[in-house]
Amino acid sequence: GHRDWTSIKAALNGIRAHDDENYIAARSRDYFWYSPILNEQLKDKLGELVVVPQTVEEVMHVASVVARHKVPLTLRGGGTGNYGQCVPLDGGIVMDLTRLDKVIEITDGHVRVEAGARISRLDDAAHETGQELMMYPSTRQMATIGGFVAGGSGGIGSLRHGMLRDPGNLTYAKVVTVEPEPQVIELFGEDVQKVQHAYGTNGIVVELGVGLTRATDWIHTAALFDGYDAALRFASSAQEKGLDCYLLTTVERRFAPFYNKLGDLFPADRDAVFAMVAPDEMARFTAEAEAHGGRISFAMSKPEIRAAGLQPAYECGWNHTTLQALKVDKSWTYLQVAYPRPFDPELVLSQMARYGEEIYWHHEMARMHGEIQIFALPLVRYRGEEAMYRLIAELEEKDGCTIFDPHVVTIEDGGMKEIDGAQIEFKKRADPYGLMNPGKTRGWTDGMARTDT
Ligand code: FAD
Repeated sequence: GHRDWTSIKAALNGIRAHDDENYIAARSRDYFWYSPILNEQLKDKLGELVVVPQTVEEVMHVASVVARHKVPLTLRGGGTGNYGQCVPLDGGIVMDLTRLDKVIEITDGHVRVEAGARISRLDDAAHETGQELMMYPSTRQMATIGGFVAGGSGGIGSLRHGMLRDPGNLTYAKVVTVEPEPQVIELFGEDVQKVQHAYGTNGIVVELGVGLTRATDWIHTAALFDGYDAALRFASSAQEKGLDCYLLTTVERRFAPFYNKLGDLFPADRDAVFAMVAPDEMARFTAEAEAHGGRISFAMSKPEIRAAGLQPAYECGWNHTTLQALKVDKSWTYLQVAYPRPFDPELVLSQMARYGEEIYWHHEMARMHGEIQIFALPLVRYRGEEAMYRLIAELEEKDGCTIFDPHVVTIEDGGMKEIDGAQIEFKKRADPYGLMNPGKTRGWTDGMARTDT
């Protein structure tokens, strides 16, 4: 290409770097293949060099080299994003942050941690102090805390603590700017939102402050129902009655063949509610399930789940539901749906009747801005792009649902819906040359186009 890689590599001063083709290919991808539309668009996009800094000082040196040589820079944590967030659209350097993995300090209700730490390790460290994270994605095992904050929105625990954006969940971010002389910017409280869900387009997050809550030895359990309406009504009433749960996921019976590890614990003639329930709430949970005509299929502590060779309940929900299905049958894709409030299970029943075999349903009980919010991540038979956008319009216009489109690469076309002015302002400071993850934010490219004309 047109970039002078000999000088760039020399300027890296021995910071670990890989230019092996296979290594680069593996680190230029994420889980965008959930979407046939994104798969077509992104499958051949590659970085040109992968760098793996070991310290914040090395991160700052890479930032300086990138700015001096005007090379695109794409950040990468666990690479589990679903929208091609880690895919370099214009080559350049991919920076893998997973070696920045120190848990710096755990105090009462709070942890300071380097951004590349795996969430599982972070949460385990919190547990050693009798605490746990407010929430994590179902990719707890692979994802990093920095990637979750920069690319995610919420997940397991959001039932109890709301989304990442909700107050108290994120308290601090230390950000390195991409300039010839990189600066360190500290963001506190609400200001952390400037880099939340910004896809690594406006600064390199090297450290985070994250809220913790008292640990609970959650019981991983499933209740089975003769009808998806009963499952939904049970989950919904458990949430409304305030049963202490960390996860409440309804999964309809047509998913059962995809959950093959569970065997008879999730049979094909029953609809399931997967949950993580506080031990002292298990009796109330069971009684409430029975009042809705259900029965408990299994209830185990996490060590018992492991010993039985089953997946934890959090790998039965959120976007793991989609993964279970895609592992078995690649002809599916999915959507992300937010339901109008207050939630009405009747709307789901009418959607099930309308779409029949075209859509399989799964719902998440969650909270957002302090209120109950129900999401769905339904499996959708892929019938081409036009059909997908017809379906999206129908769900929005006919049903009043909000779709977070998982078939697009920009922040604005996906979950955020609109340009976040504060994030773009911050990008002017943190990435003045527009080198970070180019093409992922319309707020920047549209703005540039305006100045050009
Ligand atoms: P990556 O994919 O590596 O990166 C995500 C984005 O963050 C990229 O744009 C990257 O450039 C940027 N980034 C990474 N590190 C930094 C940094 N240090 N500074 C600045 N930017 C950075 N998401 C949810 O929100 N909730 C879920 O429940 C959920 N479940 C999922 C289930 C499955 C099976 C899959 C495949 C995905 C799921 N996701 C979910 C999406 C994804 O797992 C989460 O967003 C996850 O937290 C991403 O973490 P990661 O380390 O893999 O990030």
